[in-house]
Amino acid sequence: MSKRYSIVQQSKCVSCGTCLHFCPRNAITIIHGTHAQINKDLCIGCGLCKKECPADAIYFQEREAK
Ligand code: SF4
Ligand code: SF4
Repeated sequence: MSKRYSIVQQSKCVSCGTCLHFCPRNAITIIHGTHAQINKDLCIGCGLCKKECPADAIYFQEREAK
């Protein structure tokens, strides 16, 4: 399991769908047509979505140690 995963800040997301195309894990879906949501269980924290997001709406979250 990766140390970090990505989260979408809903208020910034413009629902463009760009991040979906770049995610190698198919971890992102558009919810209600309004914002992207990342499945943290699938996310490997590669940062591709974050890099490509035109709205700067994605940020990293560290996973809590178990
Ligand atoms: S960090 Fe990588 S694996 Fe996680 S949602 Fe973004 S593109 Fe997908
Ligand atoms: S690339 Fe950014 S703005 Fe576009 S859907 Fe993904 S999180 Fe939202």
